[in-house]
Amino acid sequence: MTTNPKYIFVTGGVSSSLGKGIIAASLAKLLQAQGYRATIQKLDPYINIDPGTLNPYEHGECYVTDDGAETDLDLGHYERFLNVPTSQANNVTTGRIYQSVIDKERRGEFLGKTVQVIPHITDEIKRRIQILGNSGDYDIVITEIGGTVGDIESLPYIEAVRQLEWDLGEHNTCVIHLTLVPYLSAAGELKTKPTQHSVKTLMESGVQADILVCRTEHPLSDGIKTKLARFCNVKKEAVIESIDASTIYDVPNLMLEEGLDKVVLNQLQLKSDVPDLKRWNEFLKRHKNPKSEVTIGLIGKYVELQDSYKSILESFIHAGAENEVKVNVEPIHSEYLSESNIEFKLGHLDGVLVAPGFGERGIEGKIDAVRFVREQNIPFLGICLGMQMAVIEYARNVLNLKDANSVEMDERTPNPVINLMASQKGVVNKGGTMRLGTWDCNIEKDSIAYKVYNSETITERHRHRFEFNNDYKDQFEKAGMKATGLNPETGLVEIVEIPENDWFVGVQYHPEYKSTVKSPHPLFVAFVAAALKYKKKKK
Ligand code: GLN
Repeated sequence: MTTNPKYIFVTGGVSSSLGKGIIAASLAKLLQAQGYRATIQKLDPYINIDPGTLNPYEHGECYVTDDGAETDLDLGHYERFLNVPTSQANNVTTGRIYQSVIDKERRGEFLGKTVQVIPHITDEIKRRIQILGNSGDYDIVITEIGGTVGDIESLPYIEAVRQLEWDLGEHNTCVIHLTLVPYLSAAGELKTKPTQHSVKTLMESGVQADILVCRTEHPLSDGIKTKLARFCNVKKEAVIESIDASTIYDVPNLMLEEGLDKVVLNQLQLKSDVPDLKRWNEFLKRHKNPKSEVTIGLIGKYVELQDSYKSILESFIHAGAENEVKVNVEPIHSEYLSESNIEFKLGHLDGVLVAPGFGERGIEGKIDAVRFVREQNIPFLGICLGMQMAVIEYARNVLNLKDANSVEMDERTPNPVINLMASQKGVVNKGGTMRLGTWDCNIEKDSIAYKVYNSETITERHRHRFEFNNDYKDQFEKAGMKATGLNPETGLVEIVEIPENDWFVGVQYHPEYKSTVKSPHPLFVAFVAAALKYKKKKK
């Protein structure tokens, strides 16, 4: 194994959203499967400190790590592929870089100097890139640079890469450039010019791509690969085809067939071996050969954009494979749900998940959905806001507290069954101030949760401000909704269940952030199994 960590940079050209995250995660998977300790880091060129305050329509889901960092959704891919937790160090934004440089300036650390993009901002970027490498925990650090080469915002990052290549020396770094090779159907041809131009743009900043990963809808012929190699200054074997895949989980194997891992390791002068993808391929086999199927409704308000619920959708893929079941997820917009159409919209489902979310829009639809599902005994999983909606529904329709609500939606509700924690009351800043990251939960033995986890103590990740109001706990429990999971230090309710129903579980935390290919989340696995059981019973 190596002593000095090696650095791989993944840049993108031609177009945004080409899937750098999946390529980075797939490469890391191949390296991990050869015994290398690999990690991935995402650098985002926007000025927000983190994506926590971004609307999911802007940037997709906000992913949360164990240490409570609100991060880019690509970190979710890294964890799902590698089964290794990430942390704040794995996601850095321009906002965060500038904030630390400005803080240093105020502390007087640059006294006498003019603080500038070069060297101060670029030095801070270089420092952040090397934090993971210097930890001693990794042999290889893959740094994915968000945005597209040529963007104004990306320039300091590309400059930092250029400098690091010099600082670290030959064979210690490798630059992968992900580009698009479009197909012109009128001409029946793949076009290489956009790639040539984007490699040229990268070169204008002093960085030569070592490897091209070319997104394409059609296979790259030998001639096209030769042409790209010749015009872009890379070896022919370093022109890697990345053809559209039916599932992102195919990409590691596709990259293996193209030899991406070999060219990378060769460039870094590291030994390459045959990756051990046995478990990965077993998962793929189960995923692709389901024995039955279930349809689960995903009720949320950002359903138009698949990326808003990325981790939930991926958790269903893992849990489906585990159960050898195809999970059809039916997105249902909560804003268009009402008592009058609920049966039509939900009646055919084998399970319903009410999604996390913020704000008032669409919540009445969610409450109507929970009522229908509870009364019909359809398997239910409520996550975060989804759990809170289940609590409000129960208060309104079973405890007969018709005006019950969350103070998030109605500050003056006479029955705040979901309330603001005392510690949140003085909080003014919105960014980074929720209950975030890993918290413990003690589980009651006589519960679905205990059967699911097979443990009395668990830890799960959180991202919320409001909580079940313990003043109402006795009332709920007497009526039949039990708090089966509690945080040991604060007594805050983490899990609610209705034992009278076959499978009705609400969780204040986010199980979806911890589901990986190697360890599908037990709650999703059990939920899918419950949906299958319900479907069989229905027939
Ligand atoms: N809006 C709710 C809260 O802040 C739920 C958050 C969520 O679903 N992640 O408590």
